[in-house]
Amino acid sequence: MKIGFIGLGAMGYPMARHLAKEHELIVWNRTREKAERHAREHGTTLGGDVADCADAEVIITMLPTSREVDEIVERLEAHLKPGTLWIDATSGDPNVSRETAARLAAKGVDFVDAPVTGAIVGAENATLTIMIGGTPENFERAREVLRLNGKTLIHVGPVGAGHAIKVLTNTIMGATVWITSECMLIAKQFGIDMKTALEVTNAGSGRSNASENLLPPRLRDGQWPLVFKLLHHDKDIRIAASLAHQQHASTPMLALTQQLFSAALHQLGDGADYIEVARIVARMNGTCWD
Ligand code: NDP
Repeated sequence: MKIGFIGLGAMGYPMARHLAKEHELIVWNRTREKAERHAREHGTTLGGDVADCADAEVIITMLPTSREVDEIVERLEAHLKPGTLWIDATSGDPNVSRETAARLAAKGVDFVDAPVTGAIVGAENATLTIMIGGTPENFERAREVLRLNGKTLIHVGPVGAGHAIKVLTNTIMGATVWITSECMLIAKQFGIDMKTALEVTNAGSGRSNASENLLPPRLRDGQWPLVFKLLHHDKDIRIAASLAHQQHASTPMLALTQQLFSAALHQLGDGADYIEVARIVARMNGTCWD
C-alpha cells in the first residue's frame, strides 16, 4: 500500500521506518534533511512537496498539534483523492479533529484520530498503544496499517474520542509526576535516602509509572534525558482543561495540574523534558535534587 507520512520528529521518524517494512512510503518533513536521511536509511521515497503525499491511499500526520495538522490539510486539500484514509497520530484537539474530519469528508476522504502512547522507546520498538477514534470501518482500515507500530490498538469511539482519551491519560500522568515529586522531596528533606524512598513507594500503594520508571533515573541517579517535550505535555493538559471547561465540569485537580504545568513550562522553556517539572517542585521549596 502507498502511504504518505508527514512529520518525521522523535515519534514519526521510527514509526515511518516500521511502516516501510511492508508498505511503499512517501515521507515529507518540514526540515527536508530529516526526510532525506529517512529515504537514505530506510528506502522510503522523498516527497519533494507535501502535496506528493496526496497520491497515497493512506496519509499519516505526526505533528506537534492540531494547528500544524490543519496547515497541512490546507496544503493538501486540492490534491486529495476520494477513498483516501487520513490517520492523524498527533496528540491533537478532539474538537478540531471533528472539524477536520468534516472538511475531509467533503472531499470523500475518511479520517481517524490515532494518537499514541509509549514514548520514543515505544515508537522505536513498535510497541505503542494506539487509541483510535472513527467509524468501525475506518478503525479496521487504520488497524491494518498501524499494527506495524503498536501492540495494543483500541477503538475508543467516534472521531475525536482518541484525542480526548489521550490528553486525559496524559493529565493523569502529569498530576502523578507532580505529587510523587512533592512527596519524594519531603522524604529527602526528612533525611530518607532517595533510593529507599522510591523503593518503599514502589513496594506500596503509592506505586505508579512515575515512581517506577519516570522519576528514579532523575531523582535517584541525576539523569535528566529529554524524552517528551514539556511543551507537548503542557499542550495535552491544556486540551484536557478545555474539555472540562466545555462540559462545565468541576475539576479542581485538573485545573491545578494545568496551572502548574504551564507555570513550569514558563520557567523551564520549550526545550525541557516533561519530568523536569520535578525541578520546579524542588525550586518552589528553595532546593534542588542534587
Ligand atoms: P517533535 O517535536 O520531535 O517532532 C515534531 C514534528 O513536527 C517534526 O517533524 C517537525 O518538523 C514537525 N513540525 C513542527 N512544526 C511544523 C509545522 N509548522 N509544519 C510542518 N511540520 C512541522 O515531536 P514528537 O515526535 O515528540 O511528537 C509528535 C506528537 O506526538 C505530539 O503531538 C506529541 O504530543 C505526541 N507524542 C509524543 C511522544 C514522545 O514521547 N515524544 C509520546 C506520545 C505522543 P521539523 O523536523 O522541521 O521540526
